[in-house]
Amino acid sequence: MSELLSRHRAVLPSWMPLYYESPLEITGGKGSRVTDADGRSYLDFFTGIATNILGYGVDEVREAVQAQVATGVAHTSTLYLIRHQVELAEQIAELSGIPDAKVFFTNSGTEANETALLLATYARGSDEVLALRGGYHGRSFGTVAVTGNSAWKNSSLSPLNVHYLHGTDHAAPAFRHMTEREYIDACVADLCDVLDTTAPNVACLIAEPVQGVNGFAMPPDGLLGAYKEILDEHGILMISDEVQTGWGRTGTSFFGIGNHGVTPEAMTFAKGLGNGFTIGGVVARGDLMDALPAMGVATFGGNPVSTAAARATLRYVLDHDLQSNALRQGSTILDGLLALRELPAVKDVRGKGLMFAVEMADPVTGAPSPALAGQALEAARERGLLVGKGGIKGNVLRMAPAMTLSDADAAEGRDLLLETV
Ligand code: PLP
Repeated sequence: MSELLSRHRAVLPSWMPLYYESPLEITGGKGSRVTDADGRSYLDFFTGIATNILGYGVDEVREAVQAQVATGVAHTSTLYLIRHQVELAEQIAELSGIPDAKVFFTNSGTEANETALLLATYARGSDEVLALRGGYHGRSFGTVAVTGNSAWKNSSLSPLNVHYLHGTDHAAPAFRHMTEREYIDACVADLCDVLDTTAPNVACLIAEPVQGVNGFAMPPDGLLGAYKEILDEHGILMISDEVQTGWGRTGTSFFGIGNHGVTPEAMTFAKGLGNGFTIGGVVARGDLMDALPAMGVATFGGNPVSTAAARATLRYVLDHDLQSNALRQGSTILDGLLALRELPAVKDVRGKGLMFAVEMADPVTGAPSPALAGQALEAARERGLLVGKGGIKGNVLRMAPAMTLSDADAAEGRDLLLETV
């Protein structure tokens, strides 16, 4: 065991996972490549858990941050006016398509979702919430409550009354014989049943347009739109958790929910917005935002450095039309990876834009195989490729490369995956 690893084990919680038998220490990066402490270079297809959307060492972000730090004001507080915060909020409000939107900045996706749940439950005067099976929304009390997989819950106590809906389980025995249309209809019928019988006074639905931690499992396009039609009839609010799907990553829409043809009342975001600098937030209908009784400040939320980084990141995403690049590179990679479906140990290959996944199963029993996923993760690293893991059983290889991915890096990553799995 390396000296740093034993010190890590001594002072960091045992429930914080570390990848690899011999964990990596990343000490440098440029574009889609990182270097470890031993000087070895890797092509990074997991980018800080889908966070460095522009890749590493981006001059525009560094310059924006350095300019802010050079003023001497790395932080003041949101008790004062912060130009970057106002300008960033204006831009996100406009991009969201939510009418008269307002934005509240946080430091993480967890806090963003917690805030959105507060807004919705307060506005509707109810603690009944709908969520999707298999969804992940964070580590706090409220967000754990809506997380749709018991293995990711660190508490069985719940401050909310949560009802789970179908979304990403078309392959389950009860649904697998159905066409996509029939599956959507069955999901909607189930929602109507929940509203009529068990949960008459629901505040909101919280849902990821693509379930990130659940191995990029996807509700069929249009399902969340079909849900929203019913929710609207009941005045129930929709929160789209865009922590992994925002800023064009799905290739076909700037926010993932756009793939379902609807605009929700609130969206939450974090991860990629600061290209590695800590920022999250909620964009919501202004009347909902303003109705919440005074919450005070999030001390670091909207701080000048993180909002400067976010302004530079968003400008880069829009100026370079990275959504189109995500679509193009994602298609190249996915088209190549589909060949893996022929392998007995591969249960599924799927993707949307620059989020794609390979689901591993035991070739004999067909059961989800976290062991095979773990072996593939190690084997990819041996070949110089970093990927992630996910899925309810931990049996899914997850890839979310930088949205600046070049043609050459996309082809190299795809070929390394084809060799590895
Ligand atoms: N929501 C989604 C969809 C996520 O994937 C995550 C983290 O992976 C979160 C919320 C929580 O975000 P954070 O880790 O920034 O608190």
